[in-house]
Amino acid sequence: MAEYGVNPECLEGIDRILFTPEQIQARVSELGAQISRDYEGRSLLIIGVLRGVIFFISDLMRSIKIPIEVDFMAVSSYSADSREMGFVRLIKDLELSITGRHVVFVEDIIDTGLTLNYLLRTLRTRNPASLEVCVLFNKEKKRLIDLPLRYKGFDIPDYYIVGYGLDHREKYRNMPFVGLLKAEVLQNNG
Ligand code: 5GP
Repeated sequence: MAEYGVNPECLEGIDRILFTPEQIQARVSELGAQISRDYEGRSLLIIGVLRGVIFFISDLMRSIKIPIEVDFMAVSSYSADSREMGFVRLIKDLELSITGRHVVFVEDIIDTGLTLNYLLRTLRTRNPASLEVCVLFNKEKKRLIDLPLRYKGFDIPDYYIVGYGLDHREKYRNMPFVGLLKAEVLQNNG
């Protein structure tokens, strides 16, 4: 891990690297190229959910070679109990209107699908011309709702991953790779 120039202090909780920066960049470029082809000649609006999506959406946007606009939403993280109920709270809404627009909704990771399901339902009520999903990491194991994922980066097992924007208690977001945490970090919640 030292080859990425990351301070050893930041790496203490990391068990191993799952995806290198090079592997991530290569896949993100492919997704960007695919989106560029699919939306050629149309005006596209990209929507991201803060904050885990920040690295992915900025790299994806640079890989998309057609004119695009971007906007963001934010949702509250839910507790274990409310997660069971599918409770998601919108804490930042879009600033742009999506009515009549072609929209690609960009997510860092999908686990149960509850968050994405809530957000897609909300967005559909605003009558976009089209609404597709682009997700970087897809975990199927605990999926509760079947969701249409038009663009998918990687299918992964039921791991808790960090890095490339994804956090554990707000740490590790700035790691250039995606990795797994040591068991003791997850168990201690620290
Ligand atoms: P879902 O509603 O699909 O169960 O969960 C989606 C949200 O849970 C993601 O947007 C992310 O915030 C969080 N999440 C799910 N799995 C992981 C993971 O492996 N690592 C991190 N850092 N967050 C995750």
